[in-house]
Amino acid sequence: MSYAQDVLAKLKEKNANEPEFIQAATEVLTTLEPVFEKHPEFEKASLLERIVEPERQVMFRVPWVDDNGKVQVNRGFRVQFNSAIGPYKGGLRLHPSVNLGIIKFLGFEQIFKNSLTTLPIGGGKGGSDFDPKGKSDREVMAFCQSFMTELYRHIGADTDVPAGDIGTGAREIGYMFGQYKRITNQYEGVLTGKGLTWGGSLTRTEATGYGLVYFANEMLKDLNTDFNGKTVVVSGSGNVAIYATQKVQQLGGKVVALSDSNGYIYDEEGIDLAAVKEIKEVKRGRIKEYLEYRPNAKYTEGKGVWTIKCDIALPCATQNELLIDDAKALVANGCILVAEGANMPTSLDATKYLQENGVYFAPGKAANAGGVATSALEMSQNSQRLSWTFEEVDEKLHNIMISIYKAAYAAAEEYGKEFDGKKDLVSGANIAGFMKVADAMMAQGVC
Ligand code: NDP
Repeated sequence: MSYAQDVLAKLKEKNANEPEFIQAATEVLTTLEPVFEKHPEFEKASLLERIVEPERQVMFRVPWVDDNGKVQVNRGFRVQFNSAIGPYKGGLRLHPSVNLGIIKFLGFEQIFKNSLTTLPIGGGKGGSDFDPKGKSDREVMAFCQSFMTELYRHIGADTDVPAGDIGTGAREIGYMFGQYKRITNQYEGVLTGKGLTWGGSLTRTEATGYGLVYFANEMLKDLNTDFNGKTVVVSGSGNVAIYATQKVQQLGGKVVALSDSNGYIYDEEGIDLAAVKEIKEVKRGRIKEYLEYRPNAKYTEGKGVWTIKCDIALPCATQNELLIDDAKALVANGCILVAEGANMPTSLDATKYLQENGVYFAPGKAANAGGVATSALEMSQNSQRLSWTFEEVDEKLHNIMISIYKAAYAAAEEYGKEFDGKKDLVSGANIAGFMKVADAMMAQGVC
């Protein structure tokens, strides 16, 4: 048994009740096997055993009072996975599905993603099983204040800098920042995704979606084509999906579908993004309300967004939302490119099927790294007490996405990883992200 497989077997035994973490680790460790053949010193240093074990994880009670005066209790998490190349950095997810295994999978992926950004940030992730949907603003504030009342002691501008994720947008970051400041009496860049008048960065809202499309555009160049005239299906209708749609439209592509956890809309004339923004960003409504703006569009309850014929698919909702049958439908419909905006939206077998059937595939840890990269740019601006223009940040983001693509491509090339003449960017991203962290860990001794 290879070193990576041996570590994986022990990991599965130890973390049997964390399937998402095991799924993420399986993908990474399997693709790293050739690296360990080339670098036996990593095995002697037990680098893998160390990298799969979080440096620290905290789990805590979050009590808050609802609008009926009843005390509610949620569970809070922060997993500080790896600080070899910088302070822990990663979002806070607020969704009823959150548990330790989900946060560990996200934190683990974050290590390699953050390394790929070329910026000095370690990997972490956090959140709670609190569901902001259907709660009043006051209830959300009560939760966020209670959450931060424990979290504040574990984070700091040079220690751990959380950000948004599913369910955590500008409103939640605002309430948490206010509470942090109140408890610590420090005005510091301890959270990213802040409002523009109080330390936020221009382009942060757009960054993950824009970055995803910049990345996909580099892939299209290698296929000797571009977005112009392409039909695109995007899943989700949150932050990542909305700004991916916007950038695709700017580049001449036509997005025909978006979804949420209830169902999906299909608009063959192309999505009216102003309507989606009003529904999702202003009214916090459901995607089916799109029919009130565009009565000719179609709404279908349930999953199935991947059965729509498209050239390019951008999964931007959540983990394991693109499964083997979805991959088969995409291939049968002539899809040429899949780039992940969400974290681990594609199951392992679906990824393999897409790659083996000629689809050029980009893993989320490379393709959606624009969000955390821009968060790191927000940290830089906070440290300098400066604000850069939209154009400056957008240009930096664009260049970072090109560098990530080049790094993943080059690592895939170095290790001869490809499918049908297309680079295996899953292996490439894992190897490139890992090598930088591995070098730092080797240099820092046993810790
Ligand atoms: P949002 O909360 O803004 O939007 C999430 C979207 O996905 C919503 O449309 C939501 O629908 C849908 N969704 C969430 N959970 C499920 C589920 N279990 N089943 C079906 N649909 C679901 O989140 P973001 O757009 O910020 O995040 C989307 C993905 O991108 C996540 O995987 C996140 O980790 C990843 N990501 C986000 C970054 C960022 O900067 N925001 C950075 C890098 C990655 P509904 O409203 O019905 O729940």
